[in-house]
Amino acid sequence: MNKRKNNRYKKSGEKHTRREKQSGKQHPAQLGRTNGKAAGRQKTVTAKVTCSGLTDEGKGIVQWEGKKLEVEHLLPGETAELAVSQKGRHTRTELKRIIKPSDERVKPPCDYYDECGGCQLQHMNNQAQTRFKQETVDALMQPFGKPEPILTMEHPYDYRNKSHTTFGPNKERQVIGGLYAQNTHEIIPIDRCLIHDPKADEIVQTIKGIMKSSKLQPYDEDTGHGFLRHVLIKVGKTSGEIMVVLVAASPVFQGKKNVVKALREAHPEITTLLLNVNKRNTSMVLGDEEKVLFGKGTIMDTLCGLTFDISAKSFYQINPGQTEKLYEKAMEMAELTGKETVIDAYCGIGTIGLIASRKASRVIGVELNNDAVRDAIHNSKRNGVKNARFYQGDAGEFMVQMAARGEKADVVMMDPPRNGSDEAFLSSVVKLQPERVVYVSCNPQTQAQNLKYLEKNGYSVEEIQPVDMFPQTTHVECCVSLVRNSN
Ligand code: SAH
Repeated sequence: MNKRKNNRYKKSGEKHTRREKQSGKQHPAQLGRTNGKAAGRQKTVTAKVTCSGLTDEGKGIVQWEGKKLEVEHLLPGETAELAVSQKGRHTRTELKRIIKPSDERVKPPCDYYDECGGCQLQHMNNQAQTRFKQETVDALMQPFGKPEPILTMEHPYDYRNKSHTTFGPNKERQVIGGLYAQNTHEIIPIDRCLIHDPKADEIVQTIKGIMKSSKLQPYDEDTGHGFLRHVLIKVGKTSGEIMVVLVAASPVFQGKKNVVKALREAHPEITTLLLNVNKRNTSMVLGDEEKVLFGKGTIMDTLCGLTFDISAKSFYQINPGQTEKLYEKAMEMAELTGKETVIDAYCGIGTIGLIASRKASRVIGVELNNDAVRDAIHNSKRNGVKNARFYQGDAGEFMVQMAARGEKADVVMMDPPRNGSDEAFLSSVVKLQPERVVYVSCNPQTQAQNLKYLEKNGYSVEEIQPVDMFPQTTHVECCVSLVRNSN
């Protein structure tokens, strides 16, 4: 059933680090290929199983010889044949054949589905994906209340306004560009990713062509030689503006003039081009050095009637259509009347705070990333907002200081990264005594942990709204409102 099987074990295996490669330590991919011969102790058998449910990662759950196993791409109710390999305490499964498919199974439209791992749910129809996400959030939020029906997307493809392509040489030393297979540093050459903005993929194809004709070398992670490491593209969906960031291993850009000229000629729609230099041996895409090669160095997008300029390094929600639905819901939950002091914690480029500023007395935003804070201040001026201030710093520390000064806030709107907020932050929220907290999260798991803290310390969850911001993947966004209990 897999068009390209040879990477399967890498996807579900351990992280394929550079150190492993260099030390020659055997990777699960190699264990899989030996099929028990060279690996000695590994045994592979065929098993017939029936899937009873899904894990949080969208893998099928089956029982086999008294064990609970997880099987990628298997759906509830399906009967299938697996290859089960056992090595020590580790059991690995590979889906060989589906004997009885589910009615909710669809053929994944993506050619790279099996080896990429970026989308985990493309083999489910929309209805099954929606139910999976709803049930995931329902289960996590069960201690706090019943979530509203998830807000879905009509056309759940082409939505990502940001794409990131990694370049490298293949074994024949030809240029390849694509995505890392999940949990590995193996580049899968990809021409079209169905959740990316199609224009971004076209531009990447052009860059591959220009690299070949201009002999621009891709960076080789193993040798440290070569120039181009990644291409980051950001598209302003409403403005049509496009930013291309060439991430290179060195600031010495040979043939720059011709490369830039060829790219601009092929894509006059590119409004700004940047060179970012990342010399470090790291999985971070962007380095510290940045140079604008042409244009203003930012792109513009519109959300909820305001305009936002976005820098290369600033966070910006990747699905703007769904973001508007999310922010509208967050504003409704904040119940602003025009008199409130609102804190926008983890504010990024100021989107939530600036939208809230229209219905608040004043807004205080805090954000760790310098470039994002600069964008937020600029965006505040751009929209003529006079009642918002943005500060750079750790949100937890900032709130601790506010609480220590005895300051108060009426509403805290918080949107932390995947790992959620720390106790410093949460305990300060409690000290600041806001009437309402609106908690936006891209990880309902850590959100549920944080909600538990807030419920123990004087707050009650009022409404829970999941939003499907990342169709085809297992990720789900969730917005929750809390109110302060009256004493
Ligand atoms: N509210 C924004 C950004 C949300 S993403 C929006 O909707 O667009 C989370 C943001 O938190 C990122 O911009 C990230 O840079 C920032 N961040 C991460 N850790 C932080 C911390 N400890 N303190 C403050 N901001 C942090």
